[in-house]
Order: sequence, then structure tokens, then C-alpha cells
Amino acid sequence: MRASKLYAPTLREVPAEAEIISHQLMLRAGMLRKVAAGIYTYLPLSWRTMKKIMDIIREEMDAIDGQELMMPAALPAELWQQSGRWQVYGDELWRLKDRHGRDFCLGPTHEECITYHFKNDFRSYKQLPQRLYQIQTKFRDERRPRFGLMRGREFVMKDMYSFDLDEDGLNKSYQAAYDAYHRIFSRCGLRFRPVEADPGAIGGNGSHEFMALADTGECEVLFCNQCDYAANIEFVSREPEKAAMEESKPLEKVATPGAKTVEDVAQFLGVDRKQVIKTLCYQADEELVLVLVRGDRQINEVKLQNALGCFTLAMVNDDVLQEKGYFRGSMGPVGSKGIRMVADLEVPYLSNAVCGANESGYHYIHVNPERDFKADIVADIRLVEAGEQCPHCNGHLESKRGIEVGQVFKLYTKYSQSMEAYYTDETGEEKLAVMGCYGIGVGRTMAAVIEQSHDENGIIWPMTIAPYHVVIIPVNDKEEILMRTAEELYDKFQKAGIETVFDDRKERPGVKFKDADLIGYPLKITIGKKGLERGVVELKRRDSEVMTEVPLSEIVAYVKAIVQKELIK
Ligand code: ATP
Ligand code: MG
Repeated sequence: MRASKLYAPTLREVPAEAEIISHQLMLRAGMLRKVAAGIYTYLPLSWRTMKKIMDIIREEMDAIDGQELMMPAALPAELWQQSGRWQVYGDELWRLKDRHGRDFCLGPTHEECITYHFKNDFRSYKQLPQRLYQIQTKFRDERRPRFGLMRGREFVMKDMYSFDLDEDGLNKSYQAAYDAYHRIFSRCGLRFRPVEADPGAIGGNGSHEFMALADTGECEVLFCNQCDYAANIEFVSREPEKAAMEESKPLEKVATPGAKTVEDVAQFLGVDRKQVIKTLCYQADEELVLVLVRGDRQINEVKLQNALGCFTLAMVNDDVLQEKGYFRGSMGPVGSKGIRMVADLEVPYLSNAVCGANESGYHYIHVNPERDFKADIVADIRLVEAGEQCPHCNGHLESKRGIEVGQVFKLYTKYSQSMEAYYTDETGEEKLAVMGCYGIGVGRTMAAVIEQSHDENGIIWPMTIAPYHVVIIPVNDKEEILMRTAEELYDKFQKAGIETVFDDRKERPGVKFKDADLIGYPLKITIGKKGLERGVVELKRRDSEVMTEVPLSEIVAYVKAIVQKELIK
């Protein structure tokens, strides 16, 4: 490719709208342009990288017997009604109507569609297992599209679905996908870790997220400093801390003027924060619920949502609270009627505790669960935090941030059941297919690589997914001999199968060097007059400061060897 023709409008300034480095660099390197919030055009450079990531994914999916197919983006509502997700998916589902007024959506994921095909086209145990995948544009009307390709409303995803005879088969498919994901992300040059993840309503130990480690990641991951335990903070559970029971004292209401927070109340009454029952009010679907945790704990909303089995969950604002006779800072379970209460597992272990009296400026002391109130649901709903003990050993949990680039998931029979996807086993009995699903965000993976691999001058691509392998820069476009040599080298590289950009623009060398660093070509060849007189060109790797002089006669073989070695890695 000649740089004079390359559609890569580089920018010197950092665009104001881009908060994180990968987004800034993709805009600055002329790789990406925004069309609407969370909706982008991949310009040629980023699309080349996207295609390379997709090629790696294809190779690894095919290697585990995946068959590529392509499902439609426009999906009829009926499929989603059968699975029940038309109602529960919420505002993220991009809904539309056709000219006859029939409901459709743009697929955010394709469990329904693939299960529909399985149901219609597969009959016998002899045809199983099946591992079917596609690489396709997905639509999710995200509440907060941001960070460029990290959280788009339209994005490219690889999604694979497995259909097995039984749980054993599912475990094998799951492990195969898990191992393939290892290879995919390694080949993309990412530093990542698979971590245990929330399997949502399905339960069980059935999901891992692949987290690229980066400070800008939206996820928090807890790692053990001694064993290999690692999990999304949303999913970490520990045994409840069992406080020693004291003898119950009589319930008493006391004035706590001005004390609003747990901290204030504990200080005012001279008790530990652990003795306070923190009470919050949430709207869960149509219903209000009171949520109780120990005063030194935080609520884990993912666990809370699972415990309630609701589709939407949000803290209520002060107006709604007052309407119901509650006041922020003095809410409590004692005497609360007509409202469901969910308590964390640690709450029943409290004795002579403190809680709000549902009267501004008053709290109860000597509150004893069971005697003074009864929670409707007692479940693990608290957030486990960094610094706590590991759930598996005596080590301690440390926190890091991660970007979820992929997730693998055991679905069991959730969709085969709701959509009636059966096969016939050896004895002629109809059985539900046992399913798994496996997703990778292609654009998010590309962005994650940039988050991890850049410097102050620009991107540093690994060879495997670099848009081009090499850039050739003649330092003076007016010197006939330099331009001719560059032209000849460009030709030889192309013939050798090395993906090359020849910077033939009539620009100062400084501009060309800046653009080369910004775009992040792994190898840069500089052709200067003095070098040529000695029969050498300069070779510099983007990931090192070292400059090597290579004889012109050897440069093609030299570069080819580097490229080939790094592509195999
Ligand atoms: P998140 O929790 O970040 O919203 P998710 O868990 O809903 O993601 P999955 O349904 O597991 O996402 O989708 C599979 C993969 O698709 C994710 O691991 C991620 O890499 C990618 N992905 C999901 N949502 C987006 C998005 N809005 N923009 C870009 N990539 C996305
Ligand atoms: Mg996910």
C-alpha cells in the first residue's frame, strides 16, 4: 500500500471525546471514525486488524470442530417470545417493526435463532455434538455507549453455540472452547486471565470471563495472592462471618439527631459499624424491596438481582421513599409492613444490633433478627472486597481491573427447554439438547490490545494482528535514488508476502516517522542517502529503541524471517 493513497487520516491532537487511550489512538491513527453514539466505521487500517483477529478466531474455532454459519441480524419477535426474552431483555434490545407492523429486533446474541435451527434440522444423537459459530454484527442499545469500540451499540462478535447429548458432552465442549480462547487471546498478544463469572439465572459453576488486564477496564477482578483463584468481583462469595450471639436485650428506640450514615450512627451510639443493619430500598421490576446488609458491607447488585429473580433493579430516589413513609438514613426492617425484605446471610447472626426506626432522627437499638423482624429472603447479597480472605485458601484477595474480551457459558437446557429442542437418543427417547455458548468481542479485543500495548508515540502492534508488517520510509522524497530504492524494496517485499506500506508522500521525514509510530507498524525501514552509499538501510522495531543497519541485499530475507517467526508465535 502506498501511504499517498492510504485512507488513514491521522490527527496530531487528542480528540476531546475520547476518554481512554485505545479510543484516542484509534482516532488519532486514522483507524476509526464515529458515525453516531456507539456506532463506528472501521477505516482500512483497523479493518485489516479486525480481519486478522477474525482469521485467528476462525482457525481456532475450526480446530475444535466449529462450523461457521451466518445468522440474520434482523430477528422476528416470535423467537424471542418463545424463550421469554422478548419481555425480559429490556431497553438494550433494539426493537423495530416491519412495514406490516410485525415486531423484530436486531440480534444482541443468537441463542434463540440457533436453537430454532437445531430444533428444525437435527433429530438424532448420531448428529451430536454440534459446535456452530458465526462472526457477525451485534446490536445492543447500551445505556452508556462509551470508550470507542469497548462498549458500542453496534459491534462485531464471534458467538459459538454447542449442542451436546448430556452434561458430560457439554463439559467437553466448554473445555474445548475455553482452551481455544486461551490460544486466540495469546495469539492476539494479550495479557489476560480467565476468571470465574456470574452465570446469572442458570446457576452452577458455569461461566468464565476472559479478562484482559488493564487499568481502564470496566470490570473489577479479585485474585488470591496465594492460590490460583480469580473471579469477577460480582461473583465472589465467602462463608458468612458468624458473630457470637449475645443475650437479647429489650428493643429500644433512641434519638440519633443528625446521624445519617452508618458511620455517623455507629459513632453516635458508640458501636462498631458491624452492629448496624444497613437498610436500602430498591425497585425490583414493579415491586419495592428493603435490602439489609451488615453496616460494614456493600451490596452486590448482581447477587441481589439473582436472589430476587428480577429483570430490572434500581435504588429508589428520595421522593419515592418519602411517599412510602421511609427516610434515607433512618430506614429499617423493624415494623416495616407490606414490603418484601431481603437480608444478607450475615444479618441473622447479629444480636442487639442497630437499625433505622423509619422515623427521621431515630434508630432502634438491641434489635434481634427473628424476634424483631423476619426477612422474606435470606441470601448471599453482599460484595466481597479486596483485602478479605480467599474463599479457597488462607491467602488474601487482591483487586485488579480487567476488560471482558470473551465469555464462555454453560447454558444447560435453558433454551432447549423453552424452545423445545430435542434429539432422539439410542433407545428412541426424546431428550433435550444440552447447550453452551461462547462469545468474543472482536473490536473490544482490538481495543484491549492497544490499551496494553502502546507508548506516548502511539500503538505497538504485535505482528500477528498488525494492519501491515512493515513501513518503508525514504527520508527525502526529492532524492531520486532513495525513492527508486524504496520503490524496488516495496516491490520485493510485496512479492515476498510481507505486508508493506511504502510512505511515498511528499512530507518531511519527521511527519512520516510520527505517523509510523502512531499507527504502530511492527517494523520500520528507513532509507537514507548516507546509508545507501554504504549499501545499508536502517531497521527499527516499534517495540524497541534499537536501530539495526542491514545490508540492502539482505533486507528482504532478514525482514521475512522476523515476520514469519512472529506470526507463528
Ligand atoms: P458487558 O458485561 O461488558 O456488557 P456482556 O457480558 O453483556 O458484556 P456478552 O453477552 O458476554 O457481553 O458478549 C460476549 C462478548 O461480546 C463480551 O465478552 C465482549 O467482548 C463483547 N461485547 C459485549 N457487549 C459489547 C459492546 N457493547 N461493545 C463491544 N463489545 C461488546
Ligand atoms: Mg459477558
